[in-house]
Amino acid sequence: MTTPRCELCNTHQLSTDAEQAMRACQVCADRIGLIPMPPSRRPRAPCDRCNKSSFIRVIPREHSTTRVGDGNAQVSAPMYVTHMPDTYRGFFSSEVKPVAVEESGIGLLEVYVCRGCGATEWYCVDVEKIPIDPHLMTELIEYGDGDGPYR
Ligand SMILES: [Zn+2]
Ligand SMILES: [Zn+2]
Repeated sequence: MTTPRCELCNTHQLSTDAEQAMRACQVCADRIGLIPMPPSRRPRAPCDRCNKSSFIRVIPREHSTTRVGDGNAQVSAPMYVTHMPDTYRGFFSSEVKPVAVEESGIGLLEVYVCRGCGATEWYCVDVEKIPIDPHLMTELIEYGDGDGPYR
């Protein structure tokens, strides 16, 4: 039995479980922001708007570009609600590092697009892992279960 090859570059073999799930090698995956699909969070319920039960599930990516002189590098990475700041530790002071989305992203997003009406619902795959911290621009809001805004 032969190891399958990457369907994008047709060069590298797919040796890890993650590569086989993506049907792409890690080199290609890093270039276009692919990650293996995590388990779904959405309840098994029909669309709130049109009541159909057929959806496209997508891990959305952020798309951007960096221009350096004449060079134009497209940037693509999975979308997270926030990321953990990382710093270089100096002897007397520290400096915050540029964002490395896939290493420091927290709160991976998934969207369900209804095939009946196109309405789109967002879910967070790992909501349990999101810290509450002003450096992450996160805030805990709890309305309670009563009718009023506060318990
Ligand atoms: Zn490849
Ligand atoms: Zn719908």
